[in-house]
Amino acid sequence: MTTATSSYPPLALYIDGAWTEGSGTRREPVVDPATGQVLGELPLAEPADLDAALEAADRGWRSWRDTPIETRSRILHTAARLLRERAQEIGRVMTMEQGKPLAEAAGEVQRVANLLEWDCEEARRAYGRIIPTGPGENLTVLREPIGPVAAFVPWNFPAGSPMRKIAAAVSAGCSIVIKASEEVPGTAVLITRAFHDAGLPAGVLNLVFGVPEEVSSHVIVSPVIRFVAFTGSIPVGKHLAQRAASVMKPSAMELGGHAPVIVCADADPKSAAVACARGKYANAGQVCTSPSRFFVHRSIAEEFTTALVEASEAVRVGNGLEPGVQMGPLVNARRREAVHRLVTDAREKGATVLTGGEIPDGPGYFYPPTVLVDVPADAAILSDEPFGPLAPVIVFDDLDEALRQANALPYGLAAYGFTNRADTADRLVRGFEAGILSINHTGGSVPQAPSGGYKESGYGREGGAEGLDGYLVTKRVSHRLQA
Ligand code: NAD
Repeated sequence: MTTATSSYPPLALYIDGAWTEGSGTRREPVVDPATGQVLGELPLAEPADLDAALEAADRGWRSWRDTPIETRSRILHTAARLLRERAQEIGRVMTMEQGKPLAEAAGEVQRVANLLEWDCEEARRAYGRIIPTGPGENLTVLREPIGPVAAFVPWNFPAGSPMRKIAAAVSAGCSIVIKASEEVPGTAVLITRAFHDAGLPAGVLNLVFGVPEEVSSHVIVSPVIRFVAFTGSIPVGKHLAQRAASVMKPSAMELGGHAPVIVCADADPKSAAVACARGKYANAGQVCTSPSRFFVHRSIAEEFTTALVEASEAVRVGNGLEPGVQMGPLVNARRREAVHRLVTDAREKGATVLTGGEIPDGPGYFYPPTVLVDVPADAAILSDEPFGPLAPVIVFDDLDEALRQANALPYGLAAYGFTNRADTADRLVRGFEAGILSINHTGGSVPQAPSGGYKESGYGREGGAEGLDGYLVTKRVSHRLQA
């Protein structure tokens, strides 16, 4: 195993229950986005390693699906307990490689333990049904594990994104070959280690890293794989969905969004602004559900904007390992350039930047909380997912028009509304075209409820009873009692 920094874990692939550096020599550096320091060298999988993972997943699934559900559940509960016990240690590694503040990172590990427990309990209720017939025949419907899953996840939730796929797959009785993000591999390694230490049998969980296109082109079309799960950008999601469709495999796509917030005339502008800032700057805005277009009624726009600027300037930005830091750097230089390009474009087209909007001096990929007003309709920031700490404020007069603009983009992942009137809230609930809706807060996802998009934000749901659907396949059994 390869590591450069003593507090950062050794990095390796995990195939058939064993850690390996793979059969090749290719390595990729992992960089701390707060300092630019290299944390470790990541081995990349070669085709032979992927074949080994696929064979292991095929064997792993066949024994895991036939393991009594009590045994499966006990192992998964043990993994959840280990994750909880190791939350600080794993959180620290997550902060080093991804940048988010330590409390946010450790909290994410606690949440994935909750998610794993919830999924494995829910899998115990993957009931089929009995359909009435005449005497002499039993007509039943069974829900079985679909088989080995191929999963691809991004870097913004180094624990949350892999666990969404792993928990659903292994709880349902499937095996999984997961390619976690090459930018944040340490967290995925430590999560995998918790499953290994909990006694998960070899082959059920296989963790690989590699050149993304090489891995997906090899794995998705393999006859071993029965289901494809992806979280990431819309262009890559479309590409992988087409690849899965070419071999007639079902897939789930958790893609990007550009979440509108509508702050209605009757909302309290100050508390709405504080809630919006909290949601906006979580994970430095690198969240697929991050609020990213703020439609505010004209009558409260000035008060809201003043409070939002105040809350933005109060955010303590720095190295996430330092106590008191509330927002870390962006994940890499590419992301910071993309964010700054959106601000520059908006400025050039006439927007006013009330706070932030400049790349700070010094090491790391920091970018300040940024509030923009008077943003013209043709500014790219209003149609391209910002995935950074940018808050464009747009003033509206008519709620129907605000909803029309909110729904005008091809995305439909999350949406937010602030109002103290039940009838207005009802208009928002019915009016928003989005899969994840929050009224009067910007809080995150919970294990017991489904998350997923409308329109180009994808299909399939993660979490809730629906979260297991893709990982189960339905079998109709008609049993005549006499041949
Ligand atoms: P991306 O879609 O390029 O990458 C996301 C993940 O997919 C990464 O781990 C990457 O390695 C993997 N990937 C990329 N190409 C692949 C391929 N051909 N086969 C298999 N896996 C592949 O996104 P990014 O450049 O890391 O981030 C930029 C944009 O992605 C953001 O602006 C945002 O829109 C979106 N994003 C969305 C989410 C989400 O949760 N929905 C998360 C991260 C990024």
